[in-house]
Amino acid sequence: MEDKSPPGDTITFLGTAGARFMVTRQLLASGGLWLNLSGTEMLIDPGPGCIVQATKRKLKAEKLSAIILSHRHLDHSADVNIMVEAMTQGGFKRRGKLFAPADALETEPVIFSYLRHYLEGIEVLQEGKSYSVGNVSFATPVRHIHPVETYGMLFRTAKHTFSYIADSRYFDGLCKCYGSDLLIMNVVFLEPRPPTDHPLMPADHLSAPDAEHIIMELKPRVAILTHFGMGMWRGKPWEIAQRLSEKTGVKVIAARDGMRFDLAQLDNS
Ligand SMILES: [Zn+2]
Repeated sequence: MEDKSPPGDTITFLGTAGARFMVTRQLLASGGLWLNLSGTEMLIDPGPGCIVQATKRKLKAEKLSAIILSHRHLDHSADVNIMVEAMTQGGFKRRGKLFAPADALETEPVIFSYLRHYLEGIEVLQEGKSYSVGNVSFATPVRHIHPVETYGMLFRTAKHTFSYIADSRYFDGLCKCYGSDLLIMNVVFLEPRPPTDHPLMPADHLSAPDAEHIIMELKPRVAILTHFGMGMWRGKPWEIAQRLSEKTGVKVIAARDGMRFDLAQLDNS
């Protein structure tokens, strides 16, 4: 029997691993976020294993209207080529858009040139711009502080707003860009790390104390933490989320691999 209920807004966490060791060892899955917003399906940051996690969860790539990359790092883009192939049914159906920062597309593109022709279009993400896909619009309000060109996103659907704070060092002005009903944040570190130029010691990520500060500033209805590094994972993200809930008075959830969040939950939070 067909489901006649109107399509709602859901976000599926294909994976919750962040940064190198959690991803290379697959201690948690990786693969990004799959959005279904009133029937418009979009994929954000298809990290390693996205194709596996998506098919395992019966998500159909041929229904995607867009793939969005916050930045070119492997844990956000590794499966972009196979996902474009899947979205376009091996290139037999020219459809779907790819959104990415210029440096993911230019000197050393993350997408193979032969696959570009399968797409309906490629749009370059830029600071302060807005984009639309079907009946959904999103903005990339500010360039993040991260070793490569990186943007977070603020989405507007008919009923809800939600933001995705992708990888970034905390900076003044980050908060003011992402006020929304639901806040999703990539929280890699348990503790803040001092800035460093050392290529093997990346420091440009949010920590649990940064997350607390951002939640206090923005007071969303719900905040979801994801993209956990090793320290966060050892610190038990669900316990950290519980503590942050108590401290901030905001419902804070630690994402789990495969978790599907229904935005209707925001209406009674
Ligand atoms: Zn990154």
